[in-house]
Amino acid sequence: MRRYLVAGNWKLNLGPAAGANLAAALQARLAGRALKGDVLVCPPYVTIPAVAAFAQGAPLLVGAQDCSDQDQGAYTGQVSAAMLKEAGCTHVIVAHSERRQYQRETDALFVAKIDRVHAAGLTAIFCYGELLAERRAGRAEDVVEAQLRGVLPRLAHADRGNLVLAYEPVWAIGTGETATPEIAQQMHRTSRAIVADLLGAETARQLRILYGGSCKAANAAELFALPDVDGGLIGGASLKVDDFAGIIDAAERVK
Ligand code: PEP
Repeated sequence: MRRYLVAGNWKLNLGPAAGANLAAALQARLAGRALKGDVLVCPPYVTIPAVAAFAQGAPLLVGAQDCSDQDQGAYTGQVSAAMLKEAGCTHVIVAHSERRQYQRETDALFVAKIDRVHAAGLTAIFCYGELLAERRAGRAEDVVEAQLRGVLPRLAHADRGNLVLAYEPVWAIGTGETATPEIAQQMHRTSRAIVADLLGAETARQLRILYGGSCKAANAAELFALPDVDGGLIGGASLKVDDFAGIIDAAERVK
């Protein structure tokens, strides 16, 4: 009942020329296929127009990795959600662990950003997940609950159509270490129960919750087959067409 979403986060990789090459290769792999789910790539800002040109007409969506919490004005270096929409984006990632860590972003800022994303008519992908020390201390579920409770009830326009969650245990991001299927399913089931409490049972039933953290073609099928995992947010393995296409094929097989 929930369409899968396989989303690539290109991070600080691939300028316009290299991004256009990857988008063209992906489009060639996907064109003409009636996919059961959705495929999204999130390039750096400057690469978005080049990728959007290739994504037109293909079952390929374009998103951004972040946006401003402001609409316009004297905010040097920032990009608004409305500008991203104009550039062809349908989705914006908010609260990635690298922004929590390096930019020290907070719940209040995530709420403001997601509200702007929704006001622009786009879908927010809200990332959350525990650190290794928090998991070792037996606090993983408490941390995740606090992250969801700190943001979801404060959103002005959230609904099941404009919000996607991405559970990304920080110890699994870019480390080659993936959550076991047991851990992934437990954390996703817990997340869905918290969403039911915060946003209602029907929203929780329909909301897509992605897994992120060293997901690759070799482990995607066992993760995506889990009942509460609705696809993946993919970092490193989204940068090569064979790797990313392998992950999409895994979603097609098990969803
Ligand atoms: C990410 O940064 O969202 C991510 C999941 O990265 P990787 O797949 O490289 O672990």
